[in-house]
Amino acid sequence: MYHHVKKLMYTVTIGEADPRFGKMLLEQFGGANGELAAAMQYSIQGLNCDDPGLKDLLMDIGTEELSHLEVIGTLARMHLKPTKSSREAADADPLIAICGGGGVSLYNSVGNAWTADYLKITGELDVDLRSNIAAEARAKIVYERLIDFCDDSGSKDALQFLMTREITHMKAFMTALAAMEKPPLTIGLIKPSPKIVDQYFNTSTGMGDQGEQDLLAPWNDDSTVERIDAPAFQKFADPALGTRRAEPIEGPDLSSPTQVAAQPMQMEHAGDGAKRKRGGQKDKSKE
Ligand code: MN
Ligand code: MN
Repeated sequence: MYHHVKKLMYTVTIGEADPRFGKMLLEQFGGANGELAAAMQYSIQGLNCDDPGLKDLLMDIGTEELSHLEVIGTLARMHLKPTKSSREAADADPLIAICGGGGVSLYNSVGNAWTADYLKITGELDVDLRSNIAAEARAKIVYERLIDFCDDSGSKDALQFLMTREITHMKAFMTALAAMEKPPLTIGLIKPSPKIVDQYFNTSTGMGDQGEQDLLAPWNDDSTVERIDAPAFQKFADPALGTRRAEPIEGPDLSSPTQVAAQPMQMEHAGDGAKRKRGGQKDKSKE
């Protein structure tokens, strides 16, 4: 059950309202990495969770995110309020000023509506916990950027609090994932195919205009990794393994045209066509 307590989780005060900054704050209100997305993702994962301990964790953090939504919404509203009455302020965002009366709504910082498509809910606890760890990291970095673009000390205080809590959540999700004691590459139940699982396909060739070329790094140059250069151009010794058997691609000679250029299609004049159609319909209705 939810219960509203008439206090913010963190007291919000601001100096001078900055409508343009208020609009940026909406990224954490109705944006992809914002507080509503976090609240819904964790709470709905919690509804689907059969493990009582992890369900408790997911519901606790999901509920805290709703409190964050209230804090960031209150802060954004303070900064956006002048757009209700000041033409100059309204220029910061006509959608907010004209449609929203200077209030917050579930849009991101560029006016895209919030969507459940932001949520990552798979019903596999370890997979969902990884999504949550990444979500917290994204929220942290968005708060950091907002703090960097803010001169108002009261706003900064609230943002610092919200940013800090994301690290706290990140730690809790990481601890929960570790407590599951699942090896990191063990996802689901079906085992990956041997050999293929350890192949690194180097699917790029040549040298770029800026001198970019293939580099060796731990992910492609390690005793546990079999590096295969340009697999699309190789005949594999054993196609039964499941990799592609591919011949080198014979490219067309791009320096000479292969056929005469196509003539543009003769388009019917749009005005004439429309006229005829209208006339035909009129005739039909008279019958
Ligand atoms: Mn949060
Ligand atoms: Mn969080």
